[in-house]
Amino acid sequence: MCGIVGYIGNKTIDKELVDGLKLLEYRGYDSAGVAVLKNDKIYTTKAEGNISCLEKILKNEENATVGIAHTRWATHGKPSINNAHPHISSDKEWAVVHNGIIENFGQLKNDLQHNNFTFSSETDTEVIAHLLQQLNCEDKINTVIKTCKMLEGSFALAIINKNIDGTIYLAKRKSPLYISLNNAETFVASDPICFAGKTQSYYSLNDDEFCEAKIGKLIFYNLNGETISKKPIEMTDFDIKIDKQNYAHFMLKEIQETPSILKRIVQTYKDNNAFDKINNQILKNINKIILVGCGTAYHAGLVGASFIEKFAKIEARCFVASEFRYNDPLIDDKTLAIFVSQSGETADTIMAHELAKQKGAITIALTNVLYSSLAKKVDFIFPICAGPEIAVASTKAYTAQISILNMFAKHLCNVRNNTNFNFIDSLSNLANTLKILDINCLEDISKELINEKTMFFIGRGLDYFTCEEASLKLKEITYINSQAYPAGELKHGFLALVENGTHVFVIATQKALLDKTLNGAHEASARGAKLVIATQFDIPKSQLKDIYKIISLQNFDEDLMPIASIGAFQMLSYLTSTKKGINPDQPRNLAKSVTVE
Ligand code: GLU
Repeated sequence: MCGIVGYIGNKTIDKELVDGLKLLEYRGYDSAGVAVLKNDKIYTTKAEGNISCLEKILKNEENATVGIAHTRWATHGKPSINNAHPHISSDKEWAVVHNGIIENFGQLKNDLQHNNFTFSSETDTEVIAHLLQQLNCEDKINTVIKTCKMLEGSFALAIINKNIDGTIYLAKRKSPLYISLNNAETFVASDPICFAGKTQSYYSLNDDEFCEAKIGKLIFYNLNGETISKKPIEMTDFDIKIDKQNYAHFMLKEIQETPSILKRIVQTYKDNNAFDKINNQILKNINKIILVGCGTAYHAGLVGASFIEKFAKIEARCFVASEFRYNDPLIDDKTLAIFVSQSGETADTIMAHELAKQKGAITIALTNVLYSSLAKKVDFIFPICAGPEIAVASTKAYTAQISILNMFAKHLCNVRNNTNFNFIDSLSNLANTLKILDINCLEDISKELINEKTMFFIGRGLDYFTCEEASLKLKEITYINSQAYPAGELKHGFLALVENGTHVFVIATQKALLDKTLNGAHEASARGAKLVIATQFDIPKSQLKDIYKIISLQNFDEDLMPIASIGAFQMLSYLTSTKKGINPDQPRNLAKSVTVE
């Protein structure tokens, strides 16, 4: 959350900064701001709202040579101009942008106020600007290091000093930060996607590393102030440029990309099977698998745990990362722990990984970002090959995650039980035939949903997990209070909430559970629910009279139906969101890449 960029070069600084910020807007859009250095003076411009609001008032300062900028997802202090970054020291010598949370900011603020510093914002970040002033010494990188030694919590910082032209000071702990340069320009960003098309490689700061960035020169330091050397990382296909093409929104583009991503997964795992990197002996020795994630990634983990138990017949449980961390889970060196995170930067998932590692688990990251903090820490990486996902609500990454977990469960079975599942071919067949549902079939339902306050998804087994994910999508981008229920639990609360006309979506893709699920659906319809059934099966005529609408799904092997069915609900959420006048790419109060706890 929060995006940071920095630029040193001879182009118009504010414009370069704002172009960079636009690529990071997925990280937050509460406010945005820039600070540029010109003639020994720092000039700031800030706006509440997203980057287009900042762009309108940008001064495009001529002759500035260095600048830093920020797009904010507020953690401390409401979205406002005063709380927008960059924050400036009292003597106006330092400007700082920050991604993260300074956990001891209360104590630091008290101490600074005691020393007569006055604060103009409610943010935790402002303490950093004043500390830089308080600890200021001749050697500026040393000032930055001394300041960071006072900080607890997480931070990626880009800092400029009014007396030092052409230089950005950088610091990192837990939150990501990257630097890149060519002969004439130096770039800083929270995500290397900002460097695409500009440079061939970049540097990734590790925790408690610092950098003095100038044109053509980067000097790296450790916490002791000693210089260190770092190797550049080549830009890869995954760092490809972000482009909405002709789609109205990134979310629509990303849903539509799903079949081609599945094909890419098939190709990647066929040519270079990430599963084979794990020695078979390791997979034979383990006695438990845990999956850990947040939000959509947690739902992918639920589906994955079910696949693993069904195929590999090994105990598998899925945990919400923020709960896992505080529940002293039973893990040892016979546990295989899979951490699911699209960005690989989800703070709780990264902390959960630390705990699992301490307890001796073998760890895997199921992630889209191979250079991410999580990917750097794990024993093995399963790439999800989804390309940049920009819309805040995850779509293609979810489908990619469950596809890979489906294949892994079968691979595990082959290794442990000497079976011969051809998991590549079954996914390949799905990838070649899957069609994202025709929008028209969902148009009418989405029109009805725009005035709904409450609605439900019900399903059993794998379908229940799809219900959870479908319900989350709807909440995220339509603000409708929707809830997922296991179809066997309706008498425990759900039926009390059903009113005449309440939309109840029934996901029924598992033949053995169809009748039981339909029984529950009829109980809801008897209380006035409008039933919309998503299924690949023919519903018996006798049951049709209770059903308001049917969403016909394509027919695949039942274990692949979570992959085939979620697209309809991603699309339904998208259509409802746009009809309500919401920007589905930027739902209120949310952001992607949850780098703070
Ligand atoms: N804590 C800072 C603020 O509220 C930065 C937030 C973030 O990185 O998400 O302004």
